[in-house]
This record gives sequence, structure tokens and C-alpha cells, in this order.
Amino acid sequence: MTTTSSLAFLPVLERIAEEMERTPGRGRPADYIPALAARDPRSFGMAVAELDGTVYGVGEWRQPFSAQSITKVFTLALDLAREGDELWEHVGREPSGNPFNSLVQLEYENGIPRNPFINAGALVVTDRLQTRTGDAAGELLAFLRAESGNPALDFDKEIAASETANGDRNAALAHFMASYRNIDNDVPVLLDQYFRQCSVAASCGDLALATTFLARHGIRSDGTRLLTRSQAKQVNAVMLTCGTYDAAGDFAYRVGLPGKSGVGGGIIAVVPGRCTLCVWSPGLDERGNSVAGVAALDRFTTLTGLSVF
Ligand code: GLN
Repeated sequence: MTTTSSLAFLPVLERIAEEMERTPGRGRPADYIPALAARDPRSFGMAVAELDGTVYGVGEWRQPFSAQSITKVFTLALDLAREGDELWEHVGREPSGNPFNSLVQLEYENGIPRNPFINAGALVVTDRLQTRTGDAAGELLAFLRAESGNPALDFDKEIAASETANGDRNAALAHFMASYRNIDNDVPVLLDQYFRQCSVAASCGDLALATTFLARHGIRSDGTRLLTRSQAKQVNAVMLTCGTYDAAGDFAYRVGLPGKSGVGGGIIAVVPGRCTLCVWSPGLDERGNSVAGVAALDRFTTLTGLSVF
């Protein structure tokens, strides 16, 4: 995968990996399911993908981890590509200021979730993609395999089963929105799709490559267009304002890039027109974002001077 073309950011990544090695206090792995709680908070990997498909990294950048909510970016893009603006009648695009699995705003806002990156919003997006394709999770997997060039990328059945066994809160969100007619499919069908979506196992290298369409203003790795330039801007904007839940303000302040985290400890980030990044370290802060992941991205934009500002 690593080629001899530009490895411009490799020295920066090496420096960041060294710094992270010396940084104590890495947060705690997610413990809502046993399969994630067992992860070592000291694991660390970081990758950069350039727009020509060159990918390189440091630490455990080839190690698959649980992508979790990072997948919400790809299902949003896949659904937006199909239905366009009609999607925004069913999900908003304002930061929630609440935890990712919160129910509280739904009642005041008639079952319309605040944004596509909290669980409620992602359930709506997956529901709509399911209606349009008949297999939302399969559609996601095919997209990730094609963009990463990794045909072995797959769901993790153990994680998906564990999500299902501990899925009461997501089930509550889905049923509540169904009561407002904002869910089309039967709730068990939707939850099965959503939990498989969350369970995708992919490496930093895979996810950095799969994100490059957002740095290419909507163009996929094979040169075809997934999103219009304007839609790619929209997705990047929602990542910046909502991608790290109730810490999105702090993430924008520190990192200054569109980013999306998952409770597996991964974070993807986009430098539009230049490259993408993915960092992984399983220890989380109390908002569900990787402690070392945010710190590493903060150092990347500080050391390189790259950001959207
Ligand atoms: N599977 C998790 C959930 O639905 C995903 C949440 C996340 O990564 N923030 O609770």
C-alpha cells in the first residue's frame, strides 16, 4: 500500500507517535460492551492518506479496530448521494450539545434528531438507506471495501452480537422516533442493520483511504462522483460542528478540521483538497472521544499549520 510517491507527513507522524508514547493518562476504553472494554488504552496508530491513494502511518496503523460511529459519515454520504436534500426533512444539522446516545431533545423536536452523527440521527439515516437499498450495512461494506482497496474488511460478528445484547437504548431511540413516523422500517430490522454498521472492523489505513472522497470534494477513488462538491462541503461542515458530539466545539478549537469519532477509539479527519487522517487509541474521555486521538490530531494541525481556518 505504501508507495514511493509523497510521504510528506511521515516525519510529523513519527514525532507525534513518540510524543504520545511519553504521554500518560490515556482515558478508558468504552465499557458498554465487553468486547470493547478489553482493549489496551495504550494502543496507538495514525495514518495519512493522500489524494492519489498513497497511504502511510505510524504505530498500529494497520491494525483493525471497531469503527463504530465513524461509519455514520459513510452512511450519511451514501444516503445523501441517493436522496439529496429530502434527507434534511428527517434529520437536522445542528450540534446537539448532548451525549451521543441522548434521548432528551427528541420529544421537543417531534422525533427529528438534531444531526446525523448522534445515534438518533444515524438511525434515521440508516433507516432511509435501508429503504432505498434493501441492505444499508451491505451497501456501507461494499463502499468501504472499494475505497480502502481492502476486500477483507468486514463486520465483526462478536461486536455486532454484543451491541444487540446491550441495545436497549438504541432500541428506545428507534421506537421513539417511529412513534413520530420518522422511521420507515420495522425497528428490529433497522437495529440489525445499525449494529452491523457499528461493528465494522477497519484499520487507520483503511478508514483514511475510505474518507478521501471528502478531501476530493465528492470524487471516489475510481474517479466517479459520489457527492456534488456542495454536498461534500455539507458533510465536512456537519463533521466539524457535530462529529465529536458534545465536544465538537473543543475539537474545532484544538484541531480545526472536520472530524468524526467512534467509541472504538478511532477518529477520522479531513483536510479538504489535501489529505485525510485516521488515528486510533481506545482510551476515551467522558464524551466518548479518544484522548490520545484528539491530542494527536491537535499536534498534527499545530505542527503542519494545516486546518480549515
Ligand atoms: N455502537 C455505539 C452505539 O450505538 C456507537 C456509538 C459511538 O461510536 N459513539 O452506542
